[in-house]
Amino acid sequence: MTQPFAARTVTCPACGGPSRYAPDNPWRPFCSERCKQLDLGAWASERFRVPDPTPPDPGELSDGRLPS
Ligand SMILES: [Zn+2]
Repeated sequence: MTQPFAARTVTCPACGGPSRYAPDNPWRPFCSERCKQLDLGAWASERFRVPDPTPPDPGELSDGRLPS
């Protein structure tokens, strides 16, 4: 059942479009670098929450650009 790494088309996890899953696609299983970065961003902010021992200090947020 072991097959060599063959090029095939998969669904890009980020945009849902076709992605070339092949050694010449460094972003696989994503279709592009952009999609890979997008997914990594979502990962970091939502799915892959690591406990942060240093919560932001409220004092550091006083830059006048606080969201209402
Ligand atoms: Zn994509």
